[in-house]
Amino acid sequence: MELSNLDLIEILLGKGEFLALSRNSAYLFSQPFRFDIGQHTVVKVVAAGVISFEPKQASNKDIILSCGIHGNETAPIEICDALVQDILLQKILVTQRVLVIFGNLRSMDVAQRFVEENMNRLFSLGHDNKCNNYERSRARLLEQAVENFYLSAEPDRERLHYDLHTAIRTSKNDKFAVYPFLHGKPWSKAQLQILLACGVNTILLSGNPTTTFSYFSSIKFAAHAFTIELGKVKPFGENDMGQFQQVVSTLRLLVSSHNLKCKEFAEEDFFIFKVNQVINKGQSDFTLNFPDDLANFSDFPKGHLLAFESGCEYRAQYDGEAIVFPNAQVEIGQRALLTVIPTKI
Ligand SMILES: [Zn+2]
Repeated sequence: MELSNLDLIEILLGKGEFLALSRNSAYLFSQPFRFDIGQHTVVKVVAAGVISFEPKQASNKDIILSCGIHGNETAPIEICDALVQDILLQKILVTQRVLVIFGNLRSMDVAQRFVEENMNRLFSLGHDNKCNNYERSRARLLEQAVENFYLSAEPDRERLHYDLHTAIRTSKNDKFAVYPFLHGKPWSKAQLQILLACGVNTILLSGNPTTTFSYFSSIKFAAHAFTIELGKVKPFGENDMGQFQQVVSTLRLLVSSHNLKCKEFAEEDFFIFKVNQVINKGQSDFTLNFPDDLANFSDFPKGHLLAFESGCEYRAQYDGEAIVFPNAQVEIGQRALLTVIPTKI
């Protein structure tokens, strides 16, 4: 069936099913196009899975919400899908510029984290890398979309980027955010208050440049950017959306109000950690010395053996050192485990 842009716009405004169309008929979005919702909002369809909303009245924030960078992390995808639908159907009126990104469309279809490569290791790599699998070309498209979105507004506006994920394993601290390395710039307490309103009280301060999506927006566009982990991975339709009420309502307020009111910052509201060890898999026999289903942020006494491989042992260096994102199945040379220790900001 041939669909004109006018047909497409009619479908989007009538049903709001942008994600479903992006997944089933990505070819429909091979060329960008724009249209209006009523008199108040300009919609730009950038590509399959990438859509922005701009209020015609003055606003002061440029907000990016991304999800599905890992295609099997369904809760954030469902949250963003419902948000886009409600904006298209005029149930929510945006008062801020908003770009919504559904990252890895093909890995959603196969219910996998990725098709060929972990996309959240592919940002800031530059455009000269030769290998051109789906994830790499998609990461470049997303980088370009972020750049166009931020640079097409006045530079003195507040830039936010919340990259929403769910973790492979459960976490002792159910929801947590990774704060990208800021190269000495101060951490934003106002941002931590927004995260707290989302139900995220555990913050992991990154100590190094990385190739994640949130670091890309942080370093390149000085955005307040975070990788936000909202709980454990579940298949589409199996998420208990009650667990996400706070994040859903806060994100909706953020895009539809001029000033989100949050409570005052108090250090005791948070668990703040910094990275102590980044342990990369060096050998094919790399083994984690704890059960597969151990929760993120489980901690160990000083000297405890955390992992081993031929010629190397990795031990806790501090009492209370905790593990995050363990994954022995990564490629050789990639990160298999992070350890963190409590800190203050
Ligand atoms: Zn993820």
